[in-house]
Amino acid sequence: MKIAVLPGDGIGKEIVAQAVKVLDVLKRDGLKIEMEYAHIGGAGYDAEGDPLPESTLKLARAADAVLLGAVGGPQYDTLDRPLRPERGLLRIRKELNLFANLRPALLYPELASASTLKPEVVAGLDIMIVRELTGDVYFGQPRGIEIRNGERVGFNTMIYSEAEVRRVAHVAFGIAMKRGRKLCSVEKANVLECSELWKEVVAEVAREYPEVELSTMYVDNAAMQLVRNPKQFDVIVTGNIFGDILSDEASMLSGSIGMLPSASLDEHNKGMYEPIHGSAPDIAGKDLANPLATILSVAMMYKYTFNDPVTAERIDNAVKRVIAQGYRTGDIWTEGCRRVSCSEMGDAVIAAM
Ligand code: NAD
Repeated sequence: MKIAVLPGDGIGKEIVAQAVKVLDVLKRDGLKIEMEYAHIGGAGYDAEGDPLPESTLKLARAADAVLLGAVGGPQYDTLDRPLRPERGLLRIRKELNLFANLRPALLYPELASASTLKPEVVAGLDIMIVRELTGDVYFGQPRGIEIRNGERVGFNTMIYSEAEVRRVAHVAFGIAMKRGRKLCSVEKANVLECSELWKEVVAEVAREYPEVELSTMYVDNAAMQLVRNPKQFDVIVTGNIFGDILSDEASMLSGSIGMLPSASLDEHNKGMYEPIHGSAPDIAGKDLANPLATILSVAMMYKYTFNDPVTAERIDNAVKRVIAQGYRTGDIWTEGCRRVSCSEMGDAVIAAM
């Protein structure tokens, strides 16, 4: 199992170091793991003048899975757009054809009070959001800012092909089959043609999964329902921009952005695994970040790419145990719990393993 390790920027290095400790334990216990590091994002720009250096892409292509920290930082905000860290991330997703982004929003019972919603609304929450990742308005052409009629206009193109919708719908139905067999497709078909096609294609794919109950919802309503009654959802499938926004909203239901992992898969289940949060420049370099989202990303790697649910569960259970034991980084800390640093949380997880 070859893993390309791309720490990136800001807290990326600190959180990835904790996930690597977990991989080292698995290695010690006999799993064959090879790890190789490379730069991405601002670190790629600093080292090689490119947020996705050729050598990084080559390593990622050769690997079975990619573990990524986070990219970005205020020092890069004035660079030309193609050189900005976030472009490196968008490019690697596109180059590796990682079209299906899986983002669980799961609430640990002990963290119910960390959510801004009432405990009874979020207790037991367990949603999987499947976001299409390589299409939509983030990639559609034409795009740009230009002068028209003497003023600047900015424009982007929202576009999906049938094939793009079909393949992500299959992933989502497949996941729904392994969970509660309920899938909600989120779009804006009342206004957007692109969404109209999305809705039609998802309904076609649904015929191949008669056991799954398919519902559809407009994105504005979905945003509202996620805070009104989030437990009505099992699996949600949606396009790139809607998924970007809804999955961040869902992350807050579970208390902290520092707890949520993600997987981005290609057609052969090769994947890139990363926490959903960014590089948190405000706490970078201070050993304060929550590494659990990154550690849980390794669990997802074992589940989805390495097809090893036993190892995935071992990691998941170790995280559950440290939460139950009261270990908390600052973002999830509440009175009476044990406040720990990023590296201490990593140590607690490997002790629990
Ligand atoms: P962010 O997710 O980095 O931070 C938002 C808030 O959450 C901050 O207060 C931060 O301290 C906190 N936070 C995030 N992760 C945490 C963790 N593991 N533990 C504890 N607290 C945590 O989002 P932002 O501030 O909007 O963006 C900062 C930079 O990250 C920007 O350059 C942005 O472009 C980039 N970004 C990268 C990714 C990615 O790499 N996937 C995603 C989002 C944003």
